[in-house]
Amino acid sequence: MPTMNVQTLTLRALLFLGLWQTGRRSLASAPKLQHPPEKIAVVGAGIGGAAAAFYLRQEFGDGVKIDVFEPGAVGGRLATVKVGDHEYEMGGTVIHPLNLHMKHFIEKLGLSPKKDVPSKMAIFDGNEIVFQESDWFIVNFLRMLWQYGFNFLRMQMWVESIMDKFMRIYQYQQYGYSFSSVDRLLHAMGGDGFLTLMNQTLEETMIAEGFSQNFLNDIVAPITRVNYGQTLRIHGFVGAVSVAGADSGLWSVDGGNKRVCSGLLYHSKSELIPARVTSISFTHRPSKMGPTNSFYELNYVGESGSAHSLYDIVVIATPLHQGKSDITFSGFSPPIPSHYPGRYQQTVSTMVHGLLNMSYLGTTESAEGFTASDILTTELEGSVIFSLSSVDPVHIPEGYKRPPASQRKVWRLFSPQSLSQEQLQNIFVSWDSVSETRWLAYPLYRLPYRKSPPFILHDRLYYLNAVEWAASAMEMSAISARNLALLAHHHWHGQVDKIDQEDLHTRLRGEL
Ligand SMILES: Cc1cc2nc3c(=O)[nH]c(=O)nc-3n(C[C@H](O)[C@H](O)[C@H](O)COP(=O)(O)OP(=O)(O)OC[C@H]3O[C@@H](n4cnc5c(N)ncnc54)[C@H](O)[C@@H]3O)c2cc1C
Repeated sequence: MPTMNVQTLTLRALLFLGLWQTGRRSLASAPKLQHPPEKIAVVGAGIGGAAAAFYLRQEFGDGVKIDVFEPGAVGGRLATVKVGDHEYEMGGTVIHPLNLHMKHFIEKLGLSPKKDVPSKMAIFDGNEIVFQESDWFIVNFLRMLWQYGFNFLRMQMWVESIMDKFMRIYQYQQYGYSFSSVDRLLHAMGGDGFLTLMNQTLEETMIAEGFSQNFLNDIVAPITRVNYGQTLRIHGFVGAVSVAGADSGLWSVDGGNKRVCSGLLYHSKSELIPARVTSISFTHRPSKMGPTNSFYELNYVGESGSAHSLYDIVVIATPLHQGKSDITFSGFSPPIPSHYPGRYQQTVSTMVHGLLNMSYLGTTESAEGFTASDILTTELEGSVIFSLSSVDPVHIPEGYKRPPASQRKVWRLFSPQSLSQEQLQNIFVSWDSVSETRWLAYPLYRLPYRKSPPFILHDRLYYLNAVEWAASAMEMSAISARNLALLAHHHWHGQVDKIDQEDLHTRLRGEL
């Protein structure tokens, strides 16, 4: 997909970016600060945990010790794999141009967006290519109009109206407001409309907005498959996030998205502890100073064995779900479960360096002239792949041109299951390397929507990945990280007027 073109940023984005520089906390009453906490733990060093460490440092200052626990690679679901001489993204890849936290991070860390290599989308129905973008804007426009009337235009307007509301969160956070649950956060952004989106399917939502079933099946379902490996029956909110993920101007970080995670950890001056947290208990101990003498005791296992430490505040930044993490909580009333209800969707990411078999796509086009880079698939029963993309390295070398399909190159396939030799032989004429990563990638967004897990598990124990049940994306984890850092700060200092305020949009409008 195309990377960010600064000129595509809208006036709305610039307005918010301006706000970033100037508006910080002007509404805030001067906080009555108590002494800061001594120690904070963050469990997990994906983008959520790294952003939490960054914002916790911002909120609590230099005096607090922040430990980040991570048994695997920093970055979590942001990861790269080496194929030949280059690295490629194999997990979270694209970032929306209006994802302002991610944008802010790269500016702060001195990183840059990856150089744009124009891309084109095609849709494959299992037998043939049913839609293909052209190099020419006017051809695309006429083709879209011919096949789908004004549905494309309508989709753009629908996503924009949701983004307008979504972006209110940046203003609220800029002024220091936080929310105690996912539903309250969504409600503050988009009122009852956003909560309604959570309770109806994407299909119901878009039909009610006037989209044709044909358009949903041919275009929206493939977008949902590539972005979430799921169907039009996902809830409307994550569906809207998914559709926004097909906008123009998408970008990634030069050198790999995971660089943001290591950069934020470094910038936050936190200590990375290479260990898995196994249990968290609530304990009472004598304290030298502080409003409480209760602590969270983390037990963890690393290469040098097991150990434990006490913390004033803990942020859990890994999903508490079957197969994702296995943390036991003890001494809590009511009890905290190790796993919340609901499952994560398996998406297998397979990187193949090989030669595409054009006849698999049922096209008579020559491989030399076939330049579609993102081939999405419709919801066909028995379809073995969600998508097939010609991917570019995380760093675009000088003079790079994406090779045509007639040459061996790197393809990334997303599929629900591992691909067999036979399936690979169908898709490729030949290959010289295949590597596979099985992700428990994102929640299964089935309706009826069950209430998201809580942000607040206990007084000063927070759960960042609760937000994934609204939508899983890098920016969502970053938004949740900032929300929890603010929430932890306000709880610690007793600033209840900064939590769950109603009608913020109207109240803050005059501040712009
Ligand atoms: C294939 C795929 C494609 C995607 N595409 C996109 C995309 O294009 N754009 C986008 O925005 N998002 C995308 N996403 C989603 C995005 O990657 C995630 O929403 C985001 O990376 C989640 O970050 P996180 O830090 O919240 O969780 P994670 O990245 O899962 O981080 C959690 C960390 O916690 C660690 N951990 C687990 N248990 C413990 C424990 N007991 N103790 C200590 N640490 C522990 C884990 O090792 C892990 O590193 C994609 C995801 C996948 C899998």
